[in-house]
Amino acid sequence: MAHVPAIVAPSADAPLEIGTVDRRAVGAHDVRIAIDWAGICHSDIHTVRGDWGPQHYPLTVGHEIAGHVVEVGDAVTRFSVGDRVGVGCMVNSCGECENCRAGEEQYCERGNTGTYGAVDRDGTITQGGYSTEIVVTESFVLRVPESLPYERVAPLLCAGITTYSPLRHWKAGPGSRVAVIGLGGLGHMAVKQAVAMGAEVTVLSQSLSKRDDGLAMGARDYFATSDPATFETLARSFDLIINTVSAPLDLAQYFGLLTLNGTFVSVGAPPEPMPVQVFSLFMNRRSFAGSSIGGIRETQEMLDFCAEHDVAPDVEVITAQQVNEAWNRVLRSDVRYRFVIDVASLREQAAPTA
Ligand SMILES: [Zn+2]
Ligand SMILES: [Zn+2]
Repeated sequence: MAHVPAIVAPSADAPLEIGTVDRRAVGAHDVRIAIDWAGICHSDIHTVRGDWGPQHYPLTVGHEIAGHVVEVGDAVTRFSVGDRVGVGCMVNSCGECENCRAGEEQYCERGNTGTYGAVDRDGTITQGGYSTEIVVTESFVLRVPESLPYERVAPLLCAGITTYSPLRHWKAGPGSRVAVIGLGGLGHMAVKQAVAMGAEVTVLSQSLSKRDDGLAMGARDYFATSDPATFETLARSFDLIINTVSAPLDLAQYFGLLTLNGTFVSVGAPPEPMPVQVFSLFMNRRSFAGSSIGGIRETQEMLDFCAEHDVAPDVEVITAQQVNEAWNRVLRSDVRYRFVIDVASLREQAAPTA
């Protein structure tokens, strides 16, 4: 076991601080990764604050991890020291259930093992990517194409796969019309990916304040949902709507934007239930769906797709010392469009050189 520098949440309400986290010794199938970049996801904050249930503290969060391999176990076949790699929202699953065998480990019937705050196979609590190193079984490690801009890779591992998977599942592509609700960390990835897939993309945002950004990302149109006329103008316009916001919505209003056989899929969720007017689904045989990240095989496909199509998140790079401030800005939706921690700053603070 090793103690490595990490950004630690001491409790649900205390500021984050710099400390250490334990990493297991490298087993036969394990890869030890030196983390270079760690993305900040809103889920990190929800988890630490206890919004999604009680946690074990101290806790290190972070499930958008980009780094390089520094050690491999004896049985590892897919990675070598020096390889550029990524780790996303899960670090294990049962591997035996129907969903795991189908490559949909995120829907493991026994529950996948989350990258942080989950009970690992050895009974310990998993600790995430706001740290200098992590040890992960090789089947949950992704290969990061060299052509992707390295400091922008990390957010692909959560935000990027969360939007890519439903776009693929519901077949966004040439000839399809896709609307994306919300232009934040998830929304801006959905726009870029859907555009790269060849779809015609419209952003639906509360205001027009990010309109220039949305159009620069390739969206054809940008509408304000605060303007009631938007819902008349766009009635029956979209084959697929990707909802990335976690505020409650008037769903019937959005279902009205779907064309025949159109689907509204949520990847953002408010904590409270949302009422569904079922009649609004009858018309045009509409569907209301949800989606959670993606399997490992699909995550690799997403990384390769983003490399091939020059798709990368827009990021603000911060140091480990700025992480509390960054969290406050995430809570105010004041980020364009994802924070990434430069883990070198954590390594330096933890081990200052003379
Ligand atoms: Zn996330
Ligand atoms: Zn399983």
